[in-house]
Amino acid sequence: MPAATALLSADNLARTYSVRRGMSGRVTHVRAVDGVTLTIARGETLGLVGESGCGKSTTARLVLGIERPDEGQVSFDGAAMPRSSSAAWAALRKRMQMVFQDPLSALDRRLPVGMQIREPLEIHRIGTQAEQNERVAAVMAEVGLQPHHASRHPHSLSGGQRQRAVIARALVTQPDLLVCDEPISALDVSIQAQVMNLLVELQERLGMGMLFVSHDLRAVRQISHRVAVMYLGRIVEEGTPDDILHDAAHPYSQALVSAIPHPGKTAKRIVLQGDPPNPADRPSGCAFHPRCHVAAPLCRAETPLLKPRLGDGRRVACHVAHGEIAPGRGVELELS
Ligand code: SF4
Repeated sequence: MPAATALLSADNLARTYSVRRGMSGRVTHVRAVDGVTLTIARGETLGLVGESGCGKSTTARLVLGIERPDEGQVSFDGAAMPRSSSAAWAALRKRMQMVFQDPLSALDRRLPVGMQIREPLEIHRIGTQAEQNERVAAVMAEVGLQPHHASRHPHSLSGGQRQRAVIARALVTQPDLLVCDEPISALDVSIQAQVMNLLVELQERLGMGMLFVSHDLRAVRQISHRVAVMYLGRIVEEGTPDDILHDAAHPYSQALVSAIPHPGKTAKRIVLQGDPPNPADRPSGCAFHPRCHVAAPLCRAETPLLKPRLGDGRRVACHVAHGEIAPGRGVELELS
């Protein structure tokens, strides 16, 4: 069970990028993350789910301090996150590690994986050479790699073994927080379940806090104690996996849930129309209104706040979910 103390807290984070467009060279401003507040306790996994481009990966980089937010602040273990250029941040990195999407590009093709798993110990000057050897062997065993894999180069390992090596490198310093950004999406379907099971088991055994970022709600459900649903740079709903899967309050969450294939499922599927809007041209009011199946006129004018819902305390940002207005007729949706 998650402990009560926040290991990581992010308060009202915002990040805007300036993007130069095409031949005209016109600069537009894209607000990739817009007022994200979240916490992760020790021993707890928070799943962050949403479509590609919704700001999940930017949020991951902001909470690790790899990027600086334009607004808001991040605290780790009760202290403000130091600047990424500082010695204090470099020292903190051994307690906060990241697993990336593509293990092949995360690893150096020219070096044996054992050497790469050891690297963080050398960077942070942890242990003698003998202690480092021992730690590398232990963490490789922990992630299910054999001792002989240490001398292999990334390209001679399978996709699953490469991701295990990336996880081993992230865990070798025994971090308090692990951030996984789409850690299974580059893997074959047959291997995804193995890596998911490994992450669940490691998180429970090591008691780390974990931020698990994915577009796949099924994966997020399997691993998370709490789930935050993100749309166009904002968290629109947060609850337990059961809350989201069985009683989603936000229409976007409802659409994500309805898209999960389930044998014998009879509920109608809500097919979202069109792509997510361009973050550089955010719709007025609720940004989801052009795709929402229950949008009402107020939704175009007034931005719903992410706040606890009366009755169950679940955080949700929707006028209808809060009972402020009756469901509208929304956009014409395909129901299959
Ligand atoms: Fe947004 Fe309105 Fe739909 Fe709620 S009902 S998600 S506020 S458009």
